[in-house]
Amino acid sequence: MSAQSTAGQVIRCKAAVAWEAGKPLVIEEVEVAPPQAMEVRLKILFTSLCHTDVYFWEAKGQTPLFPRIFGHEAGGIVESVGEGVTHLKPGDHVLPVFTGECGNCRHCKSKESNMCDLLRINTDRGVMLSDGKTRFSINGKPIYHFVGTSTFSEYTVAHVGSVAKINPAASLDKVCILSCGISTGLGAALNVAKPTKGSTVAIFGLGAVGLAVSIPSSINLSRVSYMGCVPHGYDQFSRSYFFKNVYGGIFGGYILSFMCPMPFLDIDISRKIIKRGNIISFVLFFLAPAAANLDNIVDVAAEGARIAGASRIIGVDLNPNRFEEAKKFGCTEFVNPNDHNKPVQEVLAEMTNGGVDRSVECTGNINAMVSAFECVHDGWGVAVLVGVPNRDDAFKTHPVKFLNERTLKGTFFGNYKPRSDLPSVVEKYMNKELELEKFITHQVAFRDINKAFDYMLAGEGIRCIIHMDA
Ligand code: NAD
Ligand code: ZN
Ligand code: ZN
Repeated sequence: MSAQSTAGQVIRCKAAVAWEAGKPLVIEEVEVAPPQAMEVRLKILFTSLCHTDVYFWEAKGQTPLFPRIFGHEAGGIVESVGEGVTHLKPGDHVLPVFTGECGNCRHCKSKESNMCDLLRINTDRGVMLSDGKTRFSINGKPIYHFVGTSTFSEYTVAHVGSVAKINPAASLDKVCILSCGISTGLGAALNVAKPTKGSTVAIFGLGAVGLAVSIPSSINLSRVSYMGCVPHGYDQFSRSYFFKNVYGGIFGGYILSFMCPMPFLDIDISRKIIKRGNIISFVLFFLAPAAANLDNIVDVAAEGARIAGASRIIGVDLNPNRFEEAKKFGCTEFVNPNDHNKPVQEVLAEMTNGGVDRSVECTGNINAMVSAFECVHDGWGVAVLVGVPNRDDAFKTHPVKFLNERTLKGTFFGNYKPRSDLPSVVEKYMNKELELEKFITHQVAFRDINKAFDYMLAGEGIRCIIHMDA
């Protein structure tokens, strides 16, 4: 179907409809109405499953709203645009986002907030904002939307403010995972927790979101350990564009070729060195000459930081299978709360001489949220909540923990503004500063979408890409 033939028309296509809470999705033929004013209709090419979809599909602790089309982590192409849409056109490559950016409200104009007055996440609304109606139907029966994206459909309609236009050269089957989980974890670390030099960080929940928290933490912390051993001027030099982009690559490649008998002076490998924390990566090749396995540079770097007495990244998860995986993302130590007969916050406090400097909670479990707060050090500790809680959860802790100068924060989408900031996160992937491939552990055809739910419920793998055209 060409864009000309479908613009302004109802499109009939396949969608995975959730008819009832917790029951397998059913692939149905749905009608997708044309976009209204300030809306766009998207052809979704790839989508993935985030745990937030699963909570609202299970509807155990959330408001049930069915029949509904879930899905909010996806990549696609604009098929047609509604009245008043000027900055998107058919053919643009886009990522829909569950929380939008109108561009005009106090939040959108503030540097500190991404909580747009008009388009901030609303998990209980199942209709479009402009007319309170759905754009999906089956034989005239409305099917509800989810967080303004509903990407488990070959075509979907979204408000223009919930759609980020990205570099068309970016592979949508990879960058689709930036439309929720990975950007959320990255932003939670870089924009909210902001671990400082030498910090110890605890990450609760080692799924895609938690592992994405780990990446900037490990790079930031790794660099720190080396900085302790070099003159200050060198620190400045290491941050320069020249160092990161030219010298680091050439010198790193040289060291590799010098140390290994294999023909290692290879541009891709040099780039890996650049992207994985620059200076520390190749310095660690002096410290750890056996570490020729390039896939392990991040853990080598984090481990090197730990040996240097600088920094630690402690992963906390109930699923022990996560721990091996998390090493690839820079985690240096692991705690399974089930292995201890005291609260995990006490275990962490003992391990860290009083508490961690930063903690980031990525589980959605209220007890883990309280532990994530109570495990930070008094005086300066900052805890960041990212997991989506149940509707009736209440956070209970003793107020003196706040008086003792701890800080508790929370964030949606890592404080990124979707339209303004997401394109630059995509560029991090394009520049090879951010590796997305290692988050993608499964791929399924759209007709097998329920398998993606099975993997997540079993705690298997990290992200599963659903191919809409397969
Ligand atoms: P996931 O299921 O892939 O990972 C969650 C991990 O947490 C699992 O490994 C699980 O074993 C672990 N876990 C669960 N309960 C735990 C507990 N009590 N203690 C320690 N570990 C525990 O999920 P995900 O897709 O990575 O999402 C993580 C959380 O982040 C979810 O709650 C999701 O809804 C939320 N989320 C929030 C935002 C946001 O903008 N704030 C965005 C995306 C996802
Ligand atoms: Zn999500
Ligand atoms: Zn706004």
